[in-house]
Order: sequence, then C-alpha cells, then structure tokens
Amino acid sequence: MIEIKTRTELEAMRAAGLVVARTLALLADAVRPGVSTAQLDELAEQSIRDAGAVPSFKGYHGFPASICASVNEQVVHGIPNHGQVLVDGDLISIDCGAILDGWHGDAAVTVAVGSVDPIDLALSEATRRSMLAGIDAIRPGGRLTDISHAVETATREAERDHGRRYGIVKDYGGHGIGRAMHMEPFLPNYGKPGRGTRLRVGMALAIEPMLTLGSPRTQELSDGWTVVTTDGSRAAHWEHTVAITDDGPWVLTAPPD
Ligand code: MG
Ligand code: MG
Repeated sequence: MIEIKTRTELEAMRAAGLVVARTLALLADAVRPGVSTAQLDELAEQSIRDAGAVPSFKGYHGFPASICASVNEQVVHGIPNHGQVLVDGDLISIDCGAILDGWHGDAAVTVAVGSVDPIDLALSEATRRSMLAGIDAIRPGGRLTDISHAVETATREAERDHGRRYGIVKDYGGHGIGRAMHMEPFLPNYGKPGRGTRLRVGMALAIEPMLTLGSPRTQELSDGWTVVTTDGSRAAHWEHTVAITDDGPWVLTAPPD
C-alpha cells in the first residue's frame, strides 16, 4: 500500500520539510574545521525542537542522534560524536529528518570542509545532479523506475563530463515517505525505466542517490550503523523529499524562497 496524500496533507508535509531545510542550511553554515559532528547534532536538535518538531532519527531503531553525519569514506548513517572533529579537506554528508504534526521530512546535503580536493567537489556535484535528474523524471502516470533510470543516466553523464567513474551505491536507496519516514516503495538509484509502481498525484518520495569515487560496495561498521565504502573511497549523498502534484514535482525539503 502506498500512501496517497491530499493537497492539505502535502502542505503539512511541506511544513515539516521546511524544518528540515532550515536545519540543514544552518548546519551547512556551521561546518568548518574544528567543529565536531556532535556539535552539529546539538545544533540540529535545537533547530528542530525550536520549530516545534521532533527529530525523527533520534531513537529510530535505537539511533542515538538527530542527524546522520557521514565523513569521507562514510556513506550514510554515521553517528555524530565528540571525537569526530572536522578537518580541512573533509567531505561530510548530513542527513536530517523531522516530524511536524505527524508528517515527516527527510533530506541530506554534502558539504565541503574548508578547501576540498576538486575531485571530491565533482563527486558531490555529480550526486546532487543525479538527485535533481531523478526529481525531474517524476511524472504522474509514469513508473517508479523512470526515476531510478534518470538518476543513473545523470550519473553516467557526470562521469563523461568529469572524465571519471563513480560507484552507484546499490545497498541503499530512496523510499516513500509521509506519516512514517520509511514507507513503500523502495526506490533504487539505477535500473531500467518503465517498471514498478505507477506514479500518482499525492505520492511522496525521498530521492537520495549515494555515489563513491571507487567501488560501489559498502559495509556496516561494528557500531551497527555507520556505512562505509569497502575500498575506503570517499562518498557523497544528497536527498530531497518530493511530492507528486498536478503541477509537477514539489520539493518539500527545498529551502524557502
Ligand atoms: Mg535521509
Ligand atoms: Mg531517506
């Protein structure tokens, strides 16, 4: 069963999405050498609670924090901690979720710490571009894997433009979202178009490609959360929560403008 939202419900989801967007903007601004991922987490929790929302990650299957902070070879689900102090040249992905009035928002950004290798910046740019291509591919009446295909195609285009191969992480992907953070359907970041659930107005999806500079293979660390690349190559992760409307995709976690 895929949850279909009314326009009013999507407006409520937009309010949750704005809490996430504002929090991520605050965090991106706070990222600098010398800041620990625990400090970023404290800022995030304060920002979310000040908005009258609840950090959805905190306590999710026992996750101990309000954001996932994944540095360098960490792909997703990094646990913020005081020992992880950012240094010049790091690449951090910050994933954030909030619940407002029962509705979820979920988004992630990748941020450069100080001056970063141009190759890492290109990796992040390729990932963001793949996410945007996925969002652009959403059509009411289309199929779920039209999005997957668009994400993969954009990654391959970025490879050609950058003269480099990227690993498309296959162990994780996007998902339905609404009254829960992770709902059906699962959305792979690669594959043939024209398959899977038919896209309908009122659906909401989190679109979140993860790319690496090397192998796409990942493993979970013994902390039970942190996902790293098996070859130690750096990774990037971008995510937006997007609704399908009659007017096209509505990026619910976009910053206000
Ligand atoms: Mg997320
Ligand atoms: Mg997500």
